[in-house]
Amino acid sequence: PFDVLIVGGGPAGAAAAVYAARKGIRTGVASERFGGQVLDTLGIENFISIKETEGPKFAHALEEHVRNYDVDIMNLQRAKALIPNTGAGKDMIEIQLESGATLKSKSVIISTGARWRNINVPGEQAFKNKGVAYCPHCDGPLFKGKRVAVIGGGNSGVEAAIDLAGIVGHVTLIEFDTALRADAVLQRKLMSLKNVEVFTNAQTTEITGDQKVNGLVYKDRTSGELKTVPLEGVFIQIGLVPNTDWLQGVVELSKHGEIIVDARGQTSVPGVFAAGDATTVPFKQIIIAAGDGAKAALGAFDHLIRSTAP
Ligand code: FAD
Repeated sequence: PFDVLIVGGGPAGAAAAVYAARKGIRTGVASERFGGQVLDTLGIENFISIKETEGPKFAHALEEHVRNYDVDIMNLQRAKALIPNTGAGKDMIEIQLESGATLKSKSVIISTGARWRNINVPGEQAFKNKGVAYCPHCDGPLFKGKRVAVIGGGNSGVEAAIDLAGIVGHVTLIEFDTALRADAVLQRKLMSLKNVEVFTNAQTTEITGDQKVNGLVYKDRTSGELKTVPLEGVFIQIGLVPNTDWLQGVVELSKHGEIIVDARGQTSVPGVFAAGDATTVPFKQIIIAAGDGAKAALGAFDHLIRSTAP
């Protein structure tokens, strides 16, 4: 059994593992894909102290740092259920894996991250990292002075369009519905920008390109006409889905499915902590996930020294 079992091996899980192991307690990390979303990232330029690096290189460095400590790394393991410590002589939390195995631990840190919702049109997969992007904070500067589209007129889409308008040459915002759904204050700000154009009732049907993205095709849902927008980048902003389905009904989740945590990373279940993109933390970024992973490990350690019999 472990003192701290971490589920998920992205930046949050890796930081939690290093912090837990440095307390000299039995630490394990079970994850489907060590590295997490970073593995799908081309360039990283906003992890403070590293001017620039590549995603897979960063992911490798995360794993190497964790391996420097006495941590039991269990890769290619997907958790399917968490069974809380029910007391009554049972002082362990259980994590059931898809493989059929069950892991036991005095405390658990969930860091299963999230995934961007895909729009599933031709060109999206082919041009990922070649003009198709999901994170304006990360990839906005790559499109300095160029033309981009933002797909999605909710809060995240409109925020992305406002953010990008300050960096890129021109922004086209495309919303499927007949109206934007973002807060009025954001919509007003958006409409005040000179280099932004908004199309509503517009269904994106294809992202086109050669080596890189060169355009977007949408259907005007009023006339049924197909229209092409020439551009260099497309930001898809139709939602971030936390990897928390397996926790439903056990750990308290927000209406978006994010794990609700307090300032120490504690969830609604005693001894269960969480960190990173899977939680209610605002702003999903590597450095934020890593910081929260460290925080959750210290929270878990604090929980252990208060609750474990000497
Ligand atoms: P994740 O990185 O999502 O890791 C989750 C981990 O949990 C993985 O190991 C996964 O395999 C595992 N897992 C999931 N479900 C289960 C399960 N049921 N059982 C076991 N394991 C499971 N941020 C920046 O700061 N800068 C950037 O430049 C940047 N660029 C990005 C580019 C792209 C294309 C993407 C997709 C994201 C980018 N981000 C960037 C965001 C950043 O990658 C995330 O904020 C960060 O990775 C979140 O870390 P995390 O540890 O919370 O989750």
